[in-house]
Amino acid sequence: MSILTEVVTAEAIAARVAELGAQITKDYEGKDPVLLGVLNGAVPFLADLSRHLPPNIEIDFLSLTRFGAEGRVGIKVDSATSISGRDVIVVEDIVDTGLTLSYLLGLLETRSPASIATATLIDKTTRRIVEVALDYRGFEVGDEFLLGYGLDWEGRYRNLTSLWAVLDLAAFQEDPDLLSQEVFAGAADRLDP
Ligand code: 5GP
Repeated sequence: MSILTEVVTAEAIAARVAELGAQITKDYEGKDPVLLGVLNGAVPFLADLSRHLPPNIEIDFLSLTRFGAEGRVGIKVDSATSISGRDVIVVEDIVDTGLTLSYLLGLLETRSPASIATATLIDKTTRRIVEVALDYRGFEVGDEFLLGYGLDWEGRYRNLTSLWAVLDLAAFQEDPDLLSQEVFAGAADRLDP
């Protein structure tokens, strides 16, 4: 059995992100929303999504700390934009238990935005611990561990253009270079005349 498998191709991501962009453009007609990306994972999704939106949008980021066992999160680096009275779209790479996003939404609510919506590329619905409303969502997946397009393994692999599932986590932990070999072997094949 293979340890890794590509689950969503770069082409499928691009097509879905374009659809989400079109939907957001329609829903926010006449408004000037702020896209608030959650670092570091939301960077590729936010960048691609923003290029399907009109030029009146603003972009900002914040980063969160995660406290292991208790599942509590906090702000590590705050955004610079004042969101009071603004239409905010929080952009996430993945919503798993929902704890991170629900904490963040609670915090942002205290800053009196005109509205808050959520956009996530990936939704692991079956893993949810707290209910959280997702307004825009790219793909629903099961509970496999994913890498690529923002999702990392100890900081690596966020820059892959597609999404990969780790089918055997123990084997991957032993040799996290496996994905590099797989991805670069594929790239080398494509370059071969
Ligand atoms: P939540 O608070 O919804 O449980 O967790 C969200 C965070 O968990 C994500 O921002 C991400 O850092 C991490 N996470 C959840 N599932 C995955 C996954 O399949 N792959 C990776 N790389 N990170 C994940």
